Amino acid sequence: MDKLNLQTQAIRSQYQRSHEGEHSEAIYETSSYVYSSSLESANVFSGQVKGNVYSRFTNPTVREFENRLAVLESAESCVATASGMSALLAVFMTFLSSGEQVICSKNVFGSTAILLRNYFAKYGIEIIFADLLDLEAFSTLITPRTKMVFFETPCNPTLEIIDIEKVCTLCRAHDLLVVVDNTFLTPFGQNPLLIGADIVVHSTSKYIDGQGRTIGGAALGQEHLIGQVRAFMRCAGPSMNAHTAWVVLKGLETLSLRMDRHCHNAALIAQWLKSHDQVTKVLYPGLESHPQYAIGLGQHHAHGAVISFIVEGGKQEAWKVIDAMKMISLTTNIGDAKSMVTHPASTTHAKLDPLDRAKLGIGDNLIRISVGLEDVGDIISDLDQALALRCIYEK
Ligand SMILES: *Cc1c(COP(=O)(O)O)cnc(C)c1O
Repeated sequence: MDKLNLQTQAIRSQYQRSHEGEHSEAIYETSSYVYSSSLESANVFSGQVKGNVYSRFTNPTVREFENRLAVLESAESCVATASGMSALLAVFMTFLSSGEQVICSKNVFGSTAILLRNYFAKYGIEIIFADLLDLEAFSTLITPRTKMVFFETPCNPTLEIIDIEKVCTLCRAHDLLVVVDNTFLTPFGQNPLLIGADIVVHSTSKYIDGQGRTIGGAALGQEHLIGQVRAFMRCAGPSMNAHTAWVVLKGLETLSLRMDRHCHNAALIAQWLKSHDQVTKVLYPGLESHPQYAIGLGQHHAHGAVISFIVEGGKQEAWKVIDAMKMISLTTNIGDAKSMVTHPASTTHAKLDPLDRAKLGIGDNLIRISVGLEDVGDIISDLDQALALRCIYEK
């Protein structure tokens, strides 16, 4: 057969089936494995012979997930982790050393910034937060000590788009490791490894699970890099468990379908919000009015399903709209079948200084929604009545 389409591989790539002939992949809930001889045990333990040793670093269900995600990201190698944060921890621990510098995009997931600033900085690693939209300014920050550049695109929650290829070209000239968090768009939305990134990181807790059931993560890239991350995982242990691996493995089978629907709903909602008189601005990469719309078109297969919008007024007004939502869940998550709403300034980004928040464009009147898989008319109705209620309050 010719090479299968990615959507087919998301369902059909399978490396093993047990003697039971199960159709759906088995869950191997075991911590250790048995050998037929001391020689075999010694050889597997040393890595001379491929085999399972201990589920902190070798588990058949986890491996099945890693292999399938690697296919979708066009990666040579993948290591699954206990959470998205532990994937980042493992990558940072593996590649950063005291005295080196990491340039981190200024608007990344809150815990990522805190991990670097509060913990890695303690060990003599310099963290520079930079605006990667301004490549000229960014290039002036690179020094001989710079080791890694880390970013997410689209950014959270302001949804700017960073030009992956341009950043990677610049970084390659300086021999820097480029790490991209691809959680927002998934492998069906963009493939940073194919346009120059060295490592891609995922939180599988979001779209890859897709129904908000498990916490997990992964790091992908060439084996000479991911092998080093795996070595850290082996001794440090923030590994994915077999049950989670099975849930997210099955999640991959429907990921493309779900992303299509997520993005379709989001595009319609973004257009609808844009024409609403209570909404002063809509931030969504799929809108032609988005400042980096063209960059997105060049690197995305889809624009994602996270939308931020700005209402007139401040926190009070934003909270009123949010609290008036009836169906859309008030949580701080993204990437669930259920639509969700978040007020970033008072939750995910509350720890930031208000001035820093303003610099990032996260005003008190900014509302973020993660568009789910419900009927789009129902989502719009809920937004409509919430925004309408606000007019009544104001009168
Ligand atoms: C959620 C998230 C993370 C952290 O992942 P966890 O699985 O919650 O640890 C990292 N990056 C992005 C972009 C995320 O949305």
